[in-house]
Amino acid sequence: MTQSADYVSEADHYVSSNALVIGGGVAGMQAALDIANQGFKVYLVEKTPSIGGRMAAIDKTFPTLDCSACILTPRLSEVARHPNIELLTYSEVEEASGTDGNFKVKVRRKARYVNESKCSGCGECAAICPVEVSAEFEEKLGFRKAIYLPFPQATPAVYTIDMESCIECKRCARECDRDAIDYEMKDKIVELHVGAIIVATGYKLFDVTAYPRLGYGKYPNVINAMEYERLINAAGPTHGHLIRISDGKMPRKIGFIQCVGARDVNKGVPYCSRVCCMYGVKNAVMAKEHDPESEVTIYYADIRAFGKGFEEFYEMAHTRFGVNFVKGRVGEVVEDPDTQNLLCEVEDTNTAKLEQVEHDMIVICPGLQPPVGLDSIAKTLNLTQSDDGYLDIEDSFLAPVETHVEGVFTCGCADGPKDIPDSVTAGSAAAMRATIILSKAGDKK
Ligand SMILES: Cc1cc2nc3c(=O)[nH]c(=O)nc-3n(C[C@H](O)[C@H](O)[C@H](O)COP(=O)(O)OP(=O)(O)OC[C@H]3O[C@@H](n4cnc5c(N)ncnc54)[C@H](O)[C@@H]3O)c2cc1C
Repeated sequence: MTQSADYVSEADHYVSSNALVIGGGVAGMQAALDIANQGFKVYLVEKTPSIGGRMAAIDKTFPTLDCSACILTPRLSEVARHPNIELLTYSEVEEASGTDGNFKVKVRRKARYVNESKCSGCGECAAICPVEVSAEFEEKLGFRKAIYLPFPQATPAVYTIDMESCIECKRCARECDRDAIDYEMKDKIVELHVGAIIVATGYKLFDVTAYPRLGYGKYPNVINAMEYERLINAAGPTHGHLIRISDGKMPRKIGFIQCVGARDVNKGVPYCSRVCCMYGVKNAVMAKEHDPESEVTIYYADIRAFGKGFEEFYEMAHTRFGVNFVKGRVGEVVEDPDTQNLLCEVEDTNTAKLEQVEHDMIVICPGLQPPVGLDSIAKTLNLTQSDDGYLDIEDSFLAPVETHVEGVFTCGCADGPKDIPDSVTAGSAAAMRATIILSKAGDKK
């Protein structure tokens, strides 16, 4: 249940026992829960209409192939129901001032044109809405209505009107028994007083059109890994049927290209994104699970399988599932206009041979980058960013979740690429550091 925002009330010179978490992905949710479970109030600010972050869109998780939504959904409810967590979704931090123990923060609550306290999430409004647009959550491979829930388990289960697409026919308003639609709703600014802030704003995918030679955006059967996650997901736009975009046929010869927008100084991404090797291996295994007869090849530079169970998973992909691993960078992908199959030119560095291999689907595995808007969050909170654009941390050995500003912490991918377990660990660590400050609440600064 979403509670209403609590406005500044404490005297300025007292340490506040409230925390602010910015970003409602798996890292931010973990931080919020850990703080809330110690009895402190947490405002969780998420810029999209729902918490959940990228994990909500991922199909299975490496290395166990557990269903991502099955792990995440109970967490979404736990956060939403927690009496000490106030969810401020569809909201963004605009201003902040103060010091550790005593920050004042202004948050813009964007108008969703649906009253949160009245909406029951029944979906009658979307059912009658005549406007269909591409769904962001489905990586634009599926559709949503102008009034929508981003995904079925979206939290809070409150609809949002996308006013850019809405034609204001007002059918949704007439259909809503609870009178929850409010076309006159305006953005609201709420002011919060918090003792500690945690930034958990996650990442964006590297835009692979930066490599035109790989054919993404040009050939329909070249897709990126997040699109693949939705295609293979039973709750996704094709109900889990892995199909080629060009003709709806099941691909039988799939190539995965690793390290695109990672470890490439020329594209401004010299760092390793840490998760792409394993999500690439996972997705190759998923293709074999769907169709054991399919030929699946991973083109890689190195396989970095550093986590618990990762090396074993990589081995299993090869030995049990029969995924081919070819060490070599793909030079170019060219479409055969007759079949819309893809000819992949690759130098196999183990054999030193230049080969041309035909695939009927190519999946590009992009690296991660700082999310859109991180610069502005950094500026608002006086945080510094490292050369790669992620948040700077105080000390990577002894203070890996602390920023250079006292009382402001970071976790998850906000300070660099991480997988889910590492993001959760960092969320808990940031919560721990934050509560050291919050526990002094009531003390004079
Ligand atoms: C294709 C792919 C497959 C993957 N598969 C796996 C896997 O199988 N196993 C695994 O361990 N990892 C996997 N990962 C990595 C996984 O996605 C990340 O580890 C995890 O999502 C990181 O969580 P996070 O909370 O840091 O970031 P995110 O999930 O990105 O969440 C950040 C949240 O912050 C919000 N936000 C951003 N900016 C703001 C702002 N200014 N104000 C308010 N809110 C904001 C975002 O909307 C989002 O909800 C995969 C990654 C990719 C790309």
